[in-house]
Amino acid sequence: MDHFSLVDGALHCEGVPLAAIAEAVGTPVYVYSSAMFEQNARAFREGLAGAGDVHLAYAIKANPNLGVLRVLAKAGYGADVVSGGELARALAAGIPAADIVFSGVGKTDAELNAALDVGLGQFNLELEEEGVVLAQIAAARGLRADATLRVNPDVDAGTHAKISTGKRENKFGVPIDQAPAIFARLAALPGLAMRGVAMHIGSQLSELGPLEAAYARIGALVAELRAAGHPIERVDLGGGLGIPYRAGETFPSPVEYGAMVARVTKDWGVRLMFEPGRFIAGNAGVLLTEVIWVKPGVPTPYVIVDAAMNDLARPAMYDAWHDFAAVRPTGERMTANIAGPVCETGDTFAMGRDIDVVKRGDLAIFRTAGAYGATMSSTYNSRAWVAEVLVDGDRFAVVADRILPETVLAAERVPEWLKPEASAA
Ligand SMILES: *Cc1c(COP(=O)(O)O)cnc(C)c1O
Repeated sequence: MDHFSLVDGALHCEGVPLAAIAEAVGTPVYVYSSAMFEQNARAFREGLAGAGDVHLAYAIKANPNLGVLRVLAKAGYGADVVSGGELARALAAGIPAADIVFSGVGKTDAELNAALDVGLGQFNLELEEEGVVLAQIAAARGLRADATLRVNPDVDAGTHAKISTGKRENKFGVPIDQAPAIFARLAALPGLAMRGVAMHIGSQLSELGPLEAAYARIGALVAELRAAGHPIERVDLGGGLGIPYRAGETFPSPVEYGAMVARVTKDWGVRLMFEPGRFIAGNAGVLLTEVIWVKPGVPTPYVIVDAAMNDLARPAMYDAWHDFAAVRPTGERMTANIAGPVCETGDTFAMGRDIDVVKRGDLAIFRTAGAYGATMSSTYNSRAWVAEVLVDGDRFAVVADRILPETVLAAERVPEWLKPEASAA
């Protein structure tokens, strides 16, 4: 069920009226539903019930808020992290280090060391040299690092070019035809325990075909590695399952996905690992905003809201669609463009959209903003850093403060030679 719905004519998140959150915290603000995260986490797990030994690692880059991570830690999820900062967050949320996977194409020596310090569960190596360096660092410390080799299966994910990662020319993983030789060299290093292989071909996948094609290639690679004498215990199949952003869109369900996984991997005899991000977080959040003006425009009016591209970058970055809805809809509709206050034409959420009628001072939401929303926000145009709220039943809490422009300004310095006193002298 959708936990953002109308109750007595007003949009609620679970049992909390969104208007009450706007009143208490101000706008723009992200609002997350604990029940929605839990529901998605459960659905993904249940979809994979027929896939044997499964390890679930939430890709925390989708929504790394500490409160959100606590909800998913309680739901039994590990974490997929892509930086030392994300590793620190996962640990702060109480996710055991053994359940954390470290992905990412540019891990620094400092990050490798920090992960070894805490006893990280698995390094997903992106290139041979990374494995060599990790092996040296680990061996010097008397450790063996558990690792997989990330393979680029050269499959077109059929998604937006900026979130496609599994084509040969993308920066991720090693080419699949070179994987057996690289794996063999890494497996011979004393500082590494090579447990298996990993892949992730992209995000917001709308069809299972590309995933199935990639998994089949990985299955053939597993057989080849075993034939060469490598005990392959784990295969990390990444994330990428897409979600609907527009009413009426259909996407593969976790049950359909799980059935495909079970079919393709049934003879692998490994622990399967998954790194879902968007599927878990996407529809668990909305961006709540207030209408500043309805500005006459040609040929349609502009609804200018107090949220902007610095708060929600996806429309400007990927031409992404987010459904827009009034918090107190009257039932009337209008055609309008929706834009934020930032001085960029790209700061436009929608053009010529059929929306609820709104007027100055009304509250509205952008739906399905729980993944790749707040985490991509910035202070561009010297705007505040957006606040985040987590709802649980009929209670809510601010889980990220709004960071005001004066706080950001306080971290900046004018060098001595540019100070007004210096020029006066
Ligand atoms: C981004 C990413 C994910 C999560 O992708 P979603 O599309 O959000 O599920 C998983 N694994 C890796 C390595 C990633 O980079």
